[in-house]
Order: sequence, then C-alpha cells, then structure tokens
Amino acid sequence: MTQLHIIGGGMAGSEAAWQAAGQGVQVVIHEMRPQTGTFAHQTEYLAEMVCSNSFRSDDDEQNAVGLLHWEMRAAGGLIMDMADRHALPAGGALAVDRDAFARAVTEHLLAHPNIRLERGEISALPDQGQWIIATGPLTSGALAEAIAQETGATALAFFDAIAPIVYFDTIDLSKAWFQSRYDKGETEEQRTAYLNCPMDRDQYEAFIDALLAADKTEFHEGETAQYFDGCLPIEVMAERGRETLRHGPMKPVGLTNPHAPDKKPHAVVQLRRDNALGTLYNIVGFQTKMKYGAQASVFKMIPGLEDASFARLGGIHRNTFLNSPTLLDEQLRLRSRPNIRFAGQITGVEGYVESAAMGLLAGRLAAGDLLGRPVSAPPRETAMGALVHHITGGAEAKTFQPMNVNFGLFPPIDAKGGRRGRRDRYKAYTDRAKLAFSDWLAGQKRDAA
Ligand code: FAD
Repeated sequence: MTQLHIIGGGMAGSEAAWQAAGQGVQVVIHEMRPQTGTFAHQTEYLAEMVCSNSFRSDDDEQNAVGLLHWEMRAAGGLIMDMADRHALPAGGALAVDRDAFARAVTEHLLAHPNIRLERGEISALPDQGQWIIATGPLTSGALAEAIAQETGATALAFFDAIAPIVYFDTIDLSKAWFQSRYDKGETEEQRTAYLNCPMDRDQYEAFIDALLAADKTEFHEGETAQYFDGCLPIEVMAERGRETLRHGPMKPVGLTNPHAPDKKPHAVVQLRRDNALGTLYNIVGFQTKMKYGAQASVFKMIPGLEDASFARLGGIHRNTFLNSPTLLDEQLRLRSRPNIRFAGQITGVEGYVESAAMGLLAGRLAAGDLLGRPVSAPPRETAMGALVHHITGGAEAKTFQPMNVNFGLFPPIDAKGGRRGRRDRYKAYTDRAKLAFSDWLAGQKRDAA
C-alpha cells in the first residue's frame, strides 16, 4: 500500500505531502486547525507563517539559508514556489505576502489528486502504516504526551533555551584560550572542548551595565514566561545582582589565562564546542531574551569576541522538540518505531525554511520506502544534508538545542593553496553543495525511471 499519513499541515507537513504525492504516493494530511488552535496560528490555512513574513536571505552564493532555498527550488519544493510567486520587495531577503502565500499552498495541496486533507487533532502515536509527524513547536498537548511516553520525558523539550553560537574561526585566540575548568580531560578532543575569554573588573562592570540596558523581547501572549532552574536568561541573572553572573556562568575559578598567567581574571566567559567538526562554539549559560541587535553588540564586548560572527543568536521560546541525536536515524525515522518519521521544527531545526526543508526530505524518504526504492539522506556537503546530519548525529546530544542552517555545519573546505577570504570560502561551500545536491536528485530520477 502506498499511503502516507502526515500529522500537521504546517511548513514541514505541507512540503512533505507535496513531495510524496509528486512521486505517486497517496497522502492524507491530518491538521487539527481550526477545531483545535494554537496561541500563534490565526487562520485555518496550511503553512501559516506565525510571526515574521520572511524566509530570510535569498543569496544562494554567500548564505547558507539562501543555499537551502536553492536546493528546495531544485527539488521542486512547493513552499519555495509559492514564496517566489507571492514575494514582496525586501532587498536581498525573501519576504512574502503571508496570507496569499498560505492560501496558495493550501489550494495547491487540495487540488492535488493524490492528497486528501482531514481536519482534526491526532492525539496518539499510530501503530501501523507510514507516518510523518510534523506538528511543530506548538504540538498539541495530547500528542506531545504520547510522544514523551514513547521517547522518555527528558527527550522531549517544551522550551528552547538557546545560547548564542559563534564561528570558531572568528574567535581571537590571542585573547581566548583552550582549557577545561580544573584541567579536566587529557585528550585533544577534551582539551579543545572549552574556550575561555577573560574579563578584568572594568570590563565585567561595563558588560553588566550593557546587559541591564539592552532591549529585551517580550514573551508572546499565551507563551508562559516561566524559566526553569539552570536556564535563566543572563540578563535576568544580572538583574538579580551585579555579582550573580560572576558566581554563575562567568565564574573565573579553575582556569589560568596563558596569555597573562600572573593576572587572575575577574570573570571568565566560557564557550563550549557545539559540533563534532569543532567549527562552532556556544557561549555557555548565555541563553537570553535580548533582541538580536542588542545581543550582537553586547557579546562583542567580550574580550576575544570583538570580531565574532554568530551562527545563531540566543533565545528562549515555547518550542516542542525532540532530542533528535538520540532518537532519530539519518532517515528521520524514530529508532524505536521506524514506521514513524519526524519532520520540521519538532526535529530540532529552527525556522520556516529549515522546517520546510526537513519536510521535503521526510516526504522524499518516506515515498522512497513506500515505493520500494529507498532514498539515502543527501550528502553532508549540501545544506539539507548538513542540517539533517547535525540534528541526527553531529550535534552533542546532552546540550542539544534547535539549530538554523549555517556554514559551520558543513564539512570544512580544504584550505590548500593558502587562506581564502570569507566570500571565496562561502562561494566554494555553495558551489560544492549545488553539485552534490544535483547529483543526489539525479540519482533519484534515475531510480524512478
Ligand atoms: P508548524 O508550521 O507550526 O506546523 C505544525 C502544524 O501541526 C500546525 O498547523 C498545527 O496546527 C498542527 N498540529 C499540531 N499538533 C497537532 C496534532 N496533534 N494533530 C494535528 N495537527 C497538529 N520561524 C521563523 O522562521 N520566523 C519567525 O518569525 C518565527 N516566529 C515564530 C513565533 C512563534 C510564536 C513560534 C511558536 C514559532 C516561530 N517560528 C518562526 C518557528 C516556526 O513556527 C517554524 O519555523 C515553522 O512554522 C515550523 O514549521 P513546522 O511545520 O515544523 O510547524
């Protein structure tokens, strides 16, 4: 039987349905709206954009999200096609008329002969058949409970608490140094697990002033502003007392600065390696509700991060997501129940584009299984492949938090022939990805012929 059920008709579910139906699979989309709503969705359209109307940069030569646009267009993606048709002028970004976009996605899906839409909440995990769960950051309570029962409660999060992530090659190592607190760890991998940035008293006091003065984002209505222990926003810690951070994530103990061994730092900001490649480091304990513009300027006050480039900035949001590195295989299947795939934001990617991309992938992978011509995950050199590899294995499971696509997830480009400038490097990443993605698509076409 070539029937695929998809729970959730958002960014990921809509794209998954389109891809699978396009291969000849019969698809049923189960969408709970409008009978059951969420605090963020306003309409009954599929693929509703709940907040900003932007798909971010459309530059497919210099930007990883622009490259993801390119790959989705190359794969005949419905989300990109409708976004292009309903684009609004927005410089280098792809912004869309949100209502026209969502209406068009809905109409195209409903008009497809292989797609059926059933409205209503699904509240239990299916036992049989091929399923994709794409219920997003606001997965209904009953289904979330059923998922947590299957995966274990600690493997399903209800909030993200994202610390900013910095590209390693933009950290100034004449100021920062590698060291684990109390020198725990002897292997090279353990030694490079932590980077430290020292502050003297004046730098620390100026940093606290900047944190207190920075613009903050409010929680959305209906989003509970409850923080859990160990994940207070840094600015809230600073509000509790000027010394709080120095006794928390910025404590200077157990560390010696090799650049100034005789001078004990007043405070230390630690960064922890965020991926196996060692291209990304997160700032430990620095989850924050500061606005993005404020974050960039406040974090650049940290010695060693003056010229830092951020793979992503920090945040705290209502967000249901799995600990995918432990639960999903590279085919996005739940290891304990391989007839169920996950797609979209619930897999631990972040953003409309990344969610739709994981939907595109899940739709093709599920269709491949149903049609008896299995599809492999795209190569890691592609944006889609880098992202799916990160969430299903490349990321540290213990500290896993949602991730945007960025060049730090890609296998590094060989620097033979001397150092390349950033523009050259990014162009090399995107050229390499386009070739690899085109090959991946061509392989599927050949198999289908
Ligand atoms: P969704 O698009 O949310 O789709 C999931 C669908 O599943 C929904 O239609 C929902 O009704 C349905 N559903 C849930 N549970 C069930 C169930 N049990 N049975 C049947 N149907 C169900 N990303 C950005 O890129 N830019 C932003 O500005 C942005 N702002 C955001 C603001 C808020 C408040 C939130 C919560 C998220 C925001 N995001 C933003 C993230 C954004 O939601 C995702 O990037 C994207 O929508 C995720 O796509 P998805 O398909 O995984 O989930």
